[in-house]
Amino acid sequence: MIEVEGVRVDTRHWIGGERVASAATFTDISPIDGAVLGEISAGGAAEVERSVTAASEAFPAWAALPVAERSAILRRVADGIDSRREDLARVETRDNGSLLRSHRRGVMPRVAMNFRFFADHAEALEHESLEIRGHRERITYDPAGVTAIITPWNAPLMLATWRIGPALAAGNTVVLKPPEWAPLTASLLADITHEAGLPAGVFNVVQGTGPDAGAPLTRHPGIRRLSFTGSVPTAGLIAAAAAPNIVPLSFELGGKSPLLVFDDCDLDLAVDLAVEQFDNAGQVCLGAFRMLVQESIAEEFLARVTERARGLVQGDPRDEATDVSALVSRQHFERVSGFVERALADGAKAVLGGGPNTELGGLYYAPTILAGARQGSEILTEEVFGPVLTMQTFGDEDEGVRMANSTRFGLAATLVTGDPERAERVSARLNAGTVWVNCFFVRDLGAPFGGNGRSGIGREGGTYSFDFYCDIKNTVFSP
Ligand code: NAD
Repeated sequence: MIEVEGVRVDTRHWIGGERVASAATFTDISPIDGAVLGEISAGGAAEVERSVTAASEAFPAWAALPVAERSAILRRVADGIDSRREDLARVETRDNGSLLRSHRRGVMPRVAMNFRFFADHAEALEHESLEIRGHRERITYDPAGVTAIITPWNAPLMLATWRIGPALAAGNTVVLKPPEWAPLTASLLADITHEAGLPAGVFNVVQGTGPDAGAPLTRHPGIRRLSFTGSVPTAGLIAAAAAPNIVPLSFELGGKSPLLVFDDCDLDLAVDLAVEQFDNAGQVCLGAFRMLVQESIAEEFLARVTERARGLVQGDPRDEATDVSALVSRQHFERVSGFVERALADGAKAVLGGGPNTELGGLYYAPTILAGARQGSEILTEEVFGPVLTMQTFGDEDEGVRMANSTRFGLAATLVTGDPERAERVSARLNAGTVWVNCFFVRDLGAPFGGNGRSGIGREGGTYSFDFYCDIKNTVFSP
C-alpha cells in the first residue's frame, strides 16, 4: 500500500477478488518531479494464468445474470467513480503528469460515463428478428468470454474503462493489463468495482511490463477477445501472439492527424483549434499536429498560433493555471527530443520552442512549432506524441486533401472552413475514422470510434462495441 496525494493505493494485482503480490516489482516514478511513488507488483506468466483462470471461472455466472442486474452493478461502479472523482484525478495526475483541471472537468466524469452509457446500451440492445419463408430468425448478442484489455499511459483510466464498460456490460469477464508508466488508477478502479458488488473474478488487474505481463496475456488460449490501445509496433507483436488462438482483435493505435485550414475559415476558430493540440503535452492519439494551411492565410495564421502558444503556461499539472505539463518518462522525452533534433538537422526551422524547457528542466519539453520540414520526412509522417506541431502550406483543395491523406495513419482529421459545400466535399475525401468540421474532440459514445490504416482495426462505441465483445448468434425457428 502506498499513499499518493493523500490517497491510499494498493500496489498489488487484483485477481479473483483478492489482492495478490508478486516477488518482483517495478518502480513507479512521477513525471512531475521525478519522485518515486512506489514499488508495484510486476506480474508475469503465473499471475496471468491465475487471472485468466479466475475470469474463466467467473464467466458463466456473470454471463447468465439478467442484463438488468449486470447493468445495475455497473451503474454502482459509475457512482463509485463519481464519489471518488477527486481521488482518481489527483492520483492520475501524479502518476502520468496530465492536467488535474482536465481530470476534474472532463476526464473523470467521462470515466463514470463509460460504465453508465454501456450499462444503458446493453439493456436497450435490440435482439433483431427476421423472417424467411415462414421461418423466424432471432439474432442475439451473446457474451463471448474472457476479454484481455491492454492500455497505454496517456489517459490510462479513461481508455481502460472505454473498453471495460462495454465488455462487462456484454456479459464478458475482464483481465486488464494497465500501463507500467501509469499503473495506479487501475488499482483504485479494482477497489471501486469490489465496493460496487462486482462478483469476484469478473474484473481482474495484472500489473507489470508489456513483455512480462502483457505478452503472456495476449498469447493465452483462454481469452476470447483482445482489446488493445497503444502503439503500432506493439500492435504487430500482439496480433502475431494472438493469431494461433484465432482471437478477435480490436486495435486503437497511433495517429498523425491533419488540421486542414482553408482560407474561407473563421481564423479565430482555426487558431483556437491549433493551440488546443498542446493539451496533455501533445500526448493525445487524436491530436491534429500537422497544420496544413492554405497559402493566402498561412503567414497570419502561423503568427497568431505562435503568439498564442508562446503564452501557454508550462509547469506542475496540479496547478489549475498550467496549460502544458511534462512528458511521461525519460524514455519518451528522449524519443520526442530525437524527432525534433533530426527534423532540425534535416532543414526544418523552429518557429517556437524546439527543445526542452530549460527553466523547468526535468521532463518539461517546450511547446514547439516546426516549419519548412522536408516533404516525406519523418516529422511529417511518424507519430511524435509530444507538444510538437508542424506547419505546411497548400495551394488548392486537391493539394490540401492530398497532403492530409499522405501518411499511413487514418485516425482523425480536423477541417476548418466557412463553406458548407467544401465541408461536405473535403470531409468525404479524408482518410480518417473521425473527421471534425470546425470543432475537435466532441463525440457521442454511441458513434463508431477507431482508425483506418495503421491507426487500428475495428470500431468501438455504442452497438459497434457490442458487435465486437459479443458472439452474435442467429437462431432459425421452423414455422
Ligand atoms: P505501447 O504500445 O508501448 O504500450 C501500450 C500497452 O501495451 C502498455 O500497457 C504496454 O505495457 C503494453 N505492451 C507493450 N509491449 C507488449 C507486448 N509485447 N505484449 C503485450 N502488451 C505489451 O504504447 P504507449 O507508448 O503506452 O502508448 C502510446 C501509443 O498509444 C501511441 O501510439 C498512441 O497514439 C496510442 N494511443 C491510441 C489511442 C486510440 O484510441 N487510438 C488512444 C491513446 C493512445
